[in-house]
Amino acid sequence: MSYVNVTQLTKRFGDNTVFNDIHFTVEQGEFVTLLGPSGCGKSTLLRSLAGLNPVDGGEIWVNGENITHHSPQQRGIGMVFQSYALFPNMTTAENIAFGLKMKGMGQQEIQTQVQQVIELVALKGKEKHYPHQLSGGQRQRVALARALVVKPRILLLDEPLSALDAKIRKHLRQQIRDIQTELNLTTIFVTHDQEEAMILSDRIFLMNQGKIVQQGSPEQIYTQPANEFVAQFMGNTN
Ligand code: ADP
Ligand code: MG
Repeated sequence: MSYVNVTQLTKRFGDNTVFNDIHFTVEQGEFVTLLGPSGCGKSTLLRSLAGLNPVDGGEIWVNGENITHHSPQQRGIGMVFQSYALFPNMTTAENIAFGLKMKGMGQQEIQTQVQQVIELVALKGKEKHYPHQLSGGQRQRVALARALVVKPRILLLDEPLSALDAKIRKHLRQQIRDIQTELNLTTIFVTHDQEEAMILSDRIFLMNQGKIVQQGSPEQIYTQPANEFVAQFMGNTN
């Protein structure tokens, strides 16, 4: 059995079926990208995995455990969103510590954990800065640190780079990948940018209109597109 097993997952909002019969597996430590055009259902699927959107059918298993109906807190999943959902009135260190405080961890232990993750995301010296004193890239690193500090078993990233300038985007995407490799952290990354997906991923799940239309390595998806949509979207129309 794979580390993550998703079977026949379905989500509707009223009459609108956002995704339908989604199935995939992810191995431990794998970096998978959910790639597809705007509106195809990527964010809704990711939020369902995180427990923020209850599903209408299907199952989600992690490490042999059925988590389909678990609360977000019970899942051991960290998530980073496109726009930095930081607390504006808290410093970097306070933002990162928040989740640990909620867990009732002691002050000394919190400090140790926060310091470790601050070094991991290269934010040393920014501990006492407030979000408005940080650049966009730094704010996303705080958001990443906040997701990592609770030691999630899966990291979900929803277009974490798309609000950033091109140069910062390239730098941060490599930083994210390096951290993911160092921690051997099972990661599902969402983007609509095929170049990002090609560069970062162990495997790509290409999504269109609520379906995963092809799964495979970047090379497979690019050189052996399953249909015209995949070929067009990946820019390989030769
Ligand atoms: P993507 O992230 O790929 O751009 P989304 O998952 O955000 O796509 O949206 C997929 C579809 O789900 C869209 O048609 C959107 O209108 C619909 N949708 C998303 N969230 C909600 C919601 N809370 N209520 C109703 N419809 C929603
Ligand atoms: Mg989205």
